[in-house]
Amino acid sequence: MLAWMLNIAGLLAILTVVMFYVGGRIALASKPPATPTVTATKPSFNVIATMPTQEPPRVVPSITPDPLATPLPNTAPTPFFLASGRRGTTIGLSVLGRPIEVYTFGQGDRQLLMVAGIHGGYEWNTITLADEMIIYLDAHPEMIPDDVTLYIIRDINPDGAARSHTDEGRVNENRVDLNRNFPTNWKAEWNRDGCWNDTYTTSGTTPGSESETKTVMRFFASHHISAAISYHSAALGIFPGGTPWDADSKRLAKTIAEVASYPYPPVETGCIYTGTLADYAVSMGAAAVDMELSNHHDTDFEMNLNVLNAFLNWR
Ligand SMILES: [Zn+2]
Repeated sequence: MLAWMLNIAGLLAILTVVMFYVGGRIALASKPPATPTVTATKPSFNVIATMPTQEPPRVVPSITPDPLATPLPNTAPTPFFLASGRRGTTIGLSVLGRPIEVYTFGQGDRQLLMVAGIHGGYEWNTITLADEMIIYLDAHPEMIPDDVTLYIIRDINPDGAARSHTDEGRVNENRVDLNRNFPTNWKAEWNRDGCWNDTYTTSGTTPGSESETKTVMRFFASHHISAAISYHSAALGIFPGGTPWDADSKRLAKTIAEVASYPYPPVETGCIYTGTLADYAVSMGAAAVDMELSNHHDTDFEMNLNVLNAFLNWR
């Protein structure tokens, strides 16, 4: 009898130890997974901790396939959101993969286009102006005539815009001046006399070689654009597209000059402009102007609101 009681007591003791152990394991397993510390210099990762053990957590990178690779730069250098929730539509990507967005206002058959930031951070105030116009139009949709659709590409060179607000921010990631890369009057090399020449730039390996240029070309191919303004800075005035200047583009330039102080005819520096967006737009059947703000920091917003109104109602 005593032997049986000892046996049962022994079994109970073993059972208690086992229960304690298993219970501990269950308690451990039900703990939330630990969040590992990721150093500030690395991109953020999704972390999946499979077991609460001492093994290092399995890391699933969300940006680059190799967590030790150089992370991509921030893909949204100039975050832009409207309080109304209206979103831009991504129509292409920069060389570094930054989205290029268009904002659309109105639903009319007559399609108009504004482009800002083709010279990137060097002309960053054109992007700020585009954003101001987008915010204004979002709040004042009645400004758009019934027969008009207006597209605003707010930042066509986001890699340049993210790089710098100096000369270095002018070109795209391949050091191409995008306003020399369009396939109309494109030249591999040009006489730099009288032209902007403060840093090394090229016109690209071939006409329309750049991702940003292709984005604009696709947009023209898939829309019937009647008129376009490409914003620049600074100070030289309003340049009609076409070689020689296209008649409708000159008419558009005159209309704008009536409500803006930007010089028209523009200041002649002796530069022969090749591969420009305005010349390409004219080749696609649009009236077009390149237009320069007064300086490299102001947006001349009130004046450009008048320009916008004149542009929207120009026929
Ligand atoms: Zn420019």
